[in-house]
Amino acid sequence: MQRPARSSPQVLTAGSIQVFDSLSGELLPLPCSLGEAGQLELRLYVCGVTPYDTGHMGHAFTFLSFDVLVRWAEANGIRVRYVQNVTDVDDPLFERARRDGVDWQELGGRETGRLLRDMELLGWRAPDHMPMVSGEMDRIIEAVERLAGLGCAYQTDRVYFPVRSYPGYGELSKLTRLAMTRKLSSEGLLGEVGPDAKRDPLDFPLWRPSDPGEPAWPSAFGPGRPGWHIECSAMAMHYLGEQVDVHGGGRDLRYSHHESERAQSETLTGVAPFARAWMHVGMVSFAGHKMSKSLGNLVVVEDVLARFPPAAVRLYLASHHYRRDWSFTWEGLEAASRLCSRLAHLLGSEPNQGAEWGAGEPAQGELEGAFGRALDHDLDTAAARGVLRRAVSQGARESARWMTSILCGSAALR
Ligand code: ZN
Repeated sequence: MQRPARSSPQVLTAGSIQVFDSLSGELLPLPCSLGEAGQLELRLYVCGVTPYDTGHMGHAFTFLSFDVLVRWAEANGIRVRYVQNVTDVDDPLFERARRDGVDWQELGGRETGRLLRDMELLGWRAPDHMPMVSGEMDRIIEAVERLAGLGCAYQTDRVYFPVRSYPGYGELSKLTRLAMTRKLSSEGLLGEVGPDAKRDPLDFPLWRPSDPGEPAWPSAFGPGRPGWHIECSAMAMHYLGEQVDVHGGGRDLRYSHHESERAQSETLTGVAPFARAWMHVGMVSFAGHKMSKSLGNLVVVEDVLARFPPAAVRLYLASHHYRRDWSFTWEGLEAASRLCSRLAHLLGSEPNQGAEWGAGEPAQGELEGAFGRALDHDLDTAAARGVLRRAVSQGARESARWMTSILCGSAALR
């Protein structure tokens, strides 16, 4: 099969905002589309969670990094259409439901509710759509059927996507076939190769039979449930169109999830690129290891919010550039909390007599210019937070209020 040839119709960009694209390895002007009313529109898709457990600071860092992007784009007059999925049909969720003796849908609904509560407290601008896999099954099945119709799927024990049909497989993650195989193996996703299984170790399932006790949906391939990656292709295309401007997620998703999503999406539509920019957020560790359920070193958002004001948590997250890996410490959060107290004091103070928005603060232009340049340069929230700190020190109340609305959204200061 030939590489998709049809290219983007018209790529628009948003003024001076630049973001780092993982595929090209370069800073790009923020790509945008033309909205229905003729305005610039950012079509943003971010991979969400499997809702089986309480949200941790790694999730919060990913979603709130994109919240700053959303708010900065909107502050620049760009309309944002933001979609974030909920993977409520997934192995870990079924395992947890079995362990706890609860219905999988009840568990998924409850944990999604907790995520939303956390994120609302942390002041995010909620996505326009948060589709759940269980509610999108018709279009997911249709996507698998279309791939099969194109000759880009084969059925043995499962229905697989043959990665050799997509010549660019591996370009996004920049991994060799051996490195990809090893990663699949380390994650328990390698499966079997053979006449009744995969033809190539890197082929990934589009559709699979459900195990006993798991939900199953009827399809042309027999009853079952989707593989992991196809859901995001189907949902992104349904809510945002054949191409998205920015596709985001944690860096751990670059391979295999995003690599596979890119391959099957461009194969489905014949349109390349599926995403005009891929933005990946760094990993958060705690006590020397990446935060993960299996290592038992999660710092849970609910626990953090029980001890600190939401805006302090946001200021702490914002002190790390989104692409870097970093280590959570309670001391770091305490330092952010001190800045938050000073900010609350400043913003709660009485305005100077006669001072209005945009007037009476001589440093305002310089401070806001520096803040904007920091965010324009690949969303450098750490530098932007430094400018906010200066604004607080100088008592530049209105500038500080504006910067806070971008870095902390609607999170409460106390
Ligand atoms: Zn995804």
